[in-house]
Amino acid sequence: ATPMSVMVGVGKAAEAGVLIRNGEALQTASKITAMILDKTGTITLGAPKVTDVVLAGEFDEDTVLRLSATLESGSEHPLAMAIVESAQESGLSIGKASNFKAIAGHGVQAEVDGKTLLFGNEKLMHEKGIELGDFVEKAQALAAEAKTPMFFAIDNKFSAIIAVADPIKEDSIAAIKRLQKNGIRVVMLTGDNRDTAKAVAKKVGITEFFAEVLPEQKSEKVQELQMQGEIVGMTGDGINDAPALAIANVGFAIGTGTDVAIESADITLMRGSLHGLADAIAVSKATLSNIK
Ligand code: ADP
Ligand code: MG
Repeated sequence: ATPMSVMVGVGKAAEAGVLIRNGEALQTASKITAMILDKTGTITLGAPKVTDVVLAGEFDEDTVLRLSATLESGSEHPLAMAIVESAQESGLSIGKASNFKAIAGHGVQAEVDGKTLLFGNEKLMHEKGIELGDFVEKAQALAAEAKTPMFFAIDNKFSAIIAVADPIKEDSIAAIKRLQKNGIRVVMLTGDNRDTAKAVAKKVGITEFFAEVLPEQKSEKVQELQMQGEIVGMTGDGINDAPALAIANVGFAIGTGTDVAIESADITLMRGSLHGLADAIAVSKATLSNIK
């Protein structure tokens, strides 16, 4: 494409809220054969809310919520925000945590009121040797409803499941369908558990997904598809997505996402809608066909 036609294309895309950082990305976008979509904050709003508290031990709901929120007040994860908000809505006072530690892709731990608290996924509980009994099945049932169940342990004793739900953006289903109609292989990628991922993928019409992917493994999934011969687009919003965005043939960041994601991407979807993907591809095709 000539520099002039690329400039026109970049301008057209900008009108649709799609910011293209370089002409090369505009030219590669039309060649994308596979699009990887992060789940949380990309397909979904990234604003989860607490939906269920299932008690398992001697502690009541207020105590469980107050302690877990105090623990999570040290975390910037969207799941942590949901817990803190829920406690605040119930009028519970959030205390002080010490020795806070985030365990990437697994959860968080700290000490509160002299108690050792652990909060996160099933894998984390297994690694710490915490017995969950038949609450594993309870968690699976919540996950089948597209909720994310998290396990809470107080002094190494399992005490509750707290589940959150993250609404799907209203136009994600239609935007994904547009990509698929363009013949693009759409794949979902998430650190969330397999059952939740499966339920969300089904809701949005995606048949291929990778779940329980650790942050450092996201870019490996991009490379895997590239090794299969795909020209890979990657769309994400989180710090975790940055290496994958950088390594993809075209990286797309959600405009409301983290700065690190935006800086690592070639194209930013200012409106947060996944329709920006098919819009960018359409502008790319028009740009290339104008100049032969
Ligand atoms: P995602 O790609 O969905 O953002 P992450 O890799 O950040 O996933 O986390 C994977 C899983 O680890 C989460 O679904 C959750 O079960 C657990 N987890 C991570 N961070 C936290 C946290 N701050 N509190 C509780 N659980 C967490
Ligand atoms: Mg995300």
